[in-house]
Amino acid sequence: MSTVNIEDLARANVRALTPYQSARRLGGNGDVWLNANEYPLAVPFELSQQTLNRYPECQPKLVIERYAAYAGLTPEQVLVSRGADEGIELLMRAFCEPGKDAVLFCPPTYGMYSVSAETIGIEYRTVEAREDWQLNLPAIADQLEGVKLVYVCSPNNPTGNLINPDDLRQLLEMARGKAIVVADEAYIEFCPQATLASWLTEYPHLVVLRTLSKAFALAGLRCGFTLANKPVIDLLMKVIAPYPLSTPVADIAAQALSDQGIALMRQHVTDLIATREWLIDALKGCDCVEQVFASQTNYLLARFSASSQVFKTLWDQGIILRDQNKQPGLAGCLRISIGTREECERTIAALKPLPGAAGSREQA
Ligand SMILES: *Cc1c(COP(=O)(O)O)cnc(C)c1O
Repeated sequence: MSTVNIEDLARANVRALTPYQSARRLGGNGDVWLNANEYPLAVPFELSQQTLNRYPECQPKLVIERYAAYAGLTPEQVLVSRGADEGIELLMRAFCEPGKDAVLFCPPTYGMYSVSAETIGIEYRTVEAREDWQLNLPAIADQLEGVKLVYVCSPNNPTGNLINPDDLRQLLEMARGKAIVVADEAYIEFCPQATLASWLTEYPHLVVLRTLSKAFALAGLRCGFTLANKPVIDLLMKVIAPYPLSTPVADIAAQALSDQGIALMRQHVTDLIATREWLIDALKGCDCVEQVFASQTNYLLARFSASSQVFKTLWDQGIILRDQNKQPGLAGCLRISIGTREECERTIAALKPLPGAAGSREQA
């Protein structure tokens, strides 16, 4: 066979790409998975459609209607896609010219904004969050020239905090007529009063991203929503695939968004928040934990005195956390998804024997 280097044929940005390090790709032989912010228990569903010979609706009517009612919006303000991740990418494909326009976001934050930009070949700019993890508005203003999309994650992954609403209003005013502001609300069910969905009446350039992957316990379904005014939705409809959701996905999403499904989700949120508060207290009682940050979500960020050793020790016991060490400002930090109460107890039992700062220095 002649030596053809297939990689030479690929786009330069794809050759240079580091793919998203998803929790599943990171592997491990864990049996306590606390690294992907999934709901720890499966919700059972049965398929009600037997029409797989037919193509699905592009935007299944019942799913759109139910999500609009749930979000307090009209159906024309809702787009459904293959997870919120597809929404992140559709926005770039609709609004950004490769080689000309840029997107902006504020680390430490969700990893897919940069991965999608790199994959599509769009410049991305980062403006680090302030020390309190709020927006650095003057620095954003300085960087806004040529930016078409500003992604703001609130509550933010992985830090768990909400972005100040007054700052979001200032950002929206700053961006008016220039850029779209995308509020990623993947975790909003854990603090529903903080949603920006009702702001859509005031801001034509606001977009809100949602998902069924977190509080709705359906990460495996791959179903997310983009909320925006009709002109934005119409543009996204031009670039979305003709059949973005399979019939079984639409079937289950509609069930999850029934009154019963929403009530069940709310019960899960209440239970999970109780477990989170228990875990916060328990972590504060561990020598190896230096700081536990407040969280409005289904995960906690904590700073450890020897985070790589902690990560490895738990990994070896089958407890898989998410290392956030590499993110700006997060040295020594691990992210822990809230599992079942039993999973959290196992985590604490594994952390308890680990030494604090003085102890780990002696060991070193
Ligand atoms: C999990 C997550 C998503 C992705 O949601 P999917 O619907 O599973 O694609 C988007 N944004 C943030 C901040 C997330 O944590």
